[in-house]
Amino acid sequence: MKVLVLNCGSSSIKYQFFDTVEKKALAKGLVDRIGMTGAVLTHKRFNDDEIKIVGEILDHTVAIEYVLGVMLSKNHGVIDKKEEIEAVGHRVVHGGESFSGSVLISEEVINVLQENIELAPLHNPPNIKGIMAVKRILPDTPQVGVFDTAFHVKMPPKAFLYGIPYELYKKYKIRRYGFHGTSHLFVSQTAAEIIGKPIEDLKIVTAHLGNGCSMAAVKSGQSIDTTMGFTPLEGLIMGTRSGDLDPSLILYIMSKEGLSLNEAGTLLNKHSGLIGISGESSDMREILAAVKDNQRRAIYAFEIFTYKIKKYIGAYAAAMGGLDAVVFTGGIGENSVEVRAEVCKEMEFLGIELDEAKNEAKMEIFSKDNSKVKLLRIPTNEELVIAMDTSKIVSEMQKEFVPAN
Ligand code: ADP
Repeated sequence: MKVLVLNCGSSSIKYQFFDTVEKKALAKGLVDRIGMTGAVLTHKRFNDDEIKIVGEILDHTVAIEYVLGVMLSKNHGVIDKKEEIEAVGHRVVHGGESFSGSVLISEEVINVLQENIELAPLHNPPNIKGIMAVKRILPDTPQVGVFDTAFHVKMPPKAFLYGIPYELYKKYKIRRYGFHGTSHLFVSQTAAEIIGKPIEDLKIVTAHLGNGCSMAAVKSGQSIDTTMGFTPLEGLIMGTRSGDLDPSLILYIMSKEGLSLNEAGTLLNKHSGLIGISGESSDMREILAAVKDNQRRAIYAFEIFTYKIKKYIGAYAAAMGGLDAVVFTGGIGENSVEVRAEVCKEMEFLGIELDEAKNEAKMEIFSKDNSKVKLLRIPTNEELVIAMDTSKIVSEMQKEFVPAN
């Protein structure tokens, strides 16, 4: 099936066009600066050079029209007519408690997404805009929503409830949801394939380390705990986000600095984490360069970042009652030899033995041959999961609607 995968943000849309039989992306691109001056569409056809188109892209509908335009174009296109797009799959950030898997988008699903806006005020509105735009432009094309939260929905109450009055969970749905689910699902399943054992027999810790960072405890193929919580702010320290805190310190800082709710939110989401500690950058490459340069605050940032990951590996080994594999993914997890080495240092007591040469060579398995716990470096591919889920759900729907002879 030919599936267009969309990841709609407030001012950008990332897209990939897949052939799900070949499991291959035929084209991909990004529309950036939607609704601003100087909006740009960057498009790349498989095995071809990247091109850029600058235009007036006022909203998500116009952006998707641009994407279709370039996909249909003579020189850079991949389809001859719109109908060749058999389905559209959307990355949707927050499915709340309603969705434990991907779903065909209907009016009812859109209503639930709208109800969940309060839980993800920055992310769900652009996701809904993308869905509505496709409805306008490709009214007959089925759409599927794949949720960042879905993989974690079956976490047990002891992992998802906070130690606050239970009524607040009932009243406002305040609980831990977790995010990056599609990535944790993909890399844990891929790890099981690489190791050559059924996922049901494995206890895996997955670490998605990008600009946003989270880890998951994946036992028998299920996420039983994860580091992000009610919002993507909890857990590890990230490029600009604080991660776990003593909640009282927020009240203390607000009173000391006279901050409003919004300002406090900005402090924790945009000015904390690697950038806040180092004062240098939110980008791990720049932190590593500053560490080489012996800059003290960058060293703190690197140490806090890796120490937190190490602590969660221990915590999740305890939560699962054992550990068979640790998987590193995301821009940092896939590329930083230093982060992987520091996280896995002095972890032999848990059965983790890193092979330095394999780590430096960026090998898929970088633990020593006799290491009880396998260490894996697996590039994530959330878009492929979205395309495959979309194709599966749409094929099932089409089977149901085949008229009997
Ligand atoms: P996003 O979460 O936005 O998808 P990515 O997964 O691309 O982001 O990860 C971005 C992070 O990956 C940045 O901190 C960047 O510095 C880091 N990164 C990318 N390449 C390297 C590298 N070679 N070494 C260390 N960090 C890297």
